[in-house]
Amino acid sequence: ERGIGRLIREGERSFSFEFMPPKDPAGEEQLWQAIRELEPYRPTFVSVTYGAGGSTRDTTARITGRIARETSLVPMAHLTCVGHTRAELEGILDSYAAAGIGNVLALRGDPQDGPRADWLPTPGGFTYACELVELAAGRFSVGVAAFSEGHPAAESLESDVRVLLDKQRAGAEFAITDMVFRSSDYLGLVERAGRAGVEIPILPGIMPILNLGQVRRMAELSGRDVPPDVVARVAAHEGDPAAVRAEGIAMAAELCEALLDGGAPGLHFYTLNRSRATREIFAALRISA
Ligand code: FAD
Repeated sequence: ERGIGRLIREGERSFSFEFMPPKDPAGEEQLWQAIRELEPYRPTFVSVTYGAGGSTRDTTARITGRIARETSLVPMAHLTCVGHTRAELEGILDSYAAAGIGNVLALRGDPQDGPRADWLPTPGGFTYACELVELAAGRFSVGVAAFSEGHPAAESLESDVRVLLDKQRAGAEFAITDMVFRSSDYLGLVERAGRAGVEIPILPGIMPILNLGQVRRMAELSGRDVPPDVVARVAAHEGDPAAVRAEGIAMAAELCEALLDGGAPGLHFYTLNRSRATREIFAALRISA
């Protein structure tokens, strides 16, 4: 049984790595190099995101299926409701099952203009991730998204965790957060979620800052700003890219330690299809392959 919900519940600490579908053959080579370099760390699972547009959408099933067939890793494929009818989503879930994929991260997805833009459901499709959780639960071990500072469009932090509770009731077995910048944000989420009745494990998402340009991109991706004190620590090394990177890795390692000390059931790394930063953080945490 390689259902991730159970692996997290029954294992010690969960470590996982997230990849993106590559856009071209060079990207695919880079992705496989990262997978091979991270495989020796024996993560609990690895996941492959579901792209918002065009050809990359089939790539998720292809890459995730190949991970299932050709590596020792437990893979999970993401899936979003964007632009799909219910029948199409059923078809994609069928293709995941046929490729030997037993784990799905069920998401709503974002409008093309980003997480803060108005969301318009596809006719015949789903309005909320919760409905996709219901569709996939039973056949797959289903994970869902959680938000360390609340989803940017959530009415309140309390309604944000009620959504997480709905996902749990619909059959979600675990949750993964967006990028966490401060351990207090994650611990606050866990506390709120617990008070609301959420019992599924919540894994914090980790993405180290490796250069200053990335800070803006992180904000665009997550729909919220990187906290000024976090930016200031790396910005202090502006003009010295190696020092910026080293500070970013050191900060991520400190964050990981604080999260685990605070009781996080594991760590989920956004790798951007490269292994080096994750390996550096593991070295700082004294975790070896
Ligand atoms: P939902 O749970 O549907 O929530 C969306 C909004 O609706 C929230 O504001 C919520 O509060 C509100 N809401 C939900 N239910 C109700 C209700 N019943 N009544 C009123 N309001 C409600 N995106 C991709 O495109 N591809 C990916 O592979 C991908 N992977 C991700 C992985 C992780 C770990 C995370 C954290 C995010 C990922 N995303 C991905 C981004 C995600 O799709 C967006 O964050 C999206 O805006 C929210 O998705 P959700 O599944 O949480 O949606």
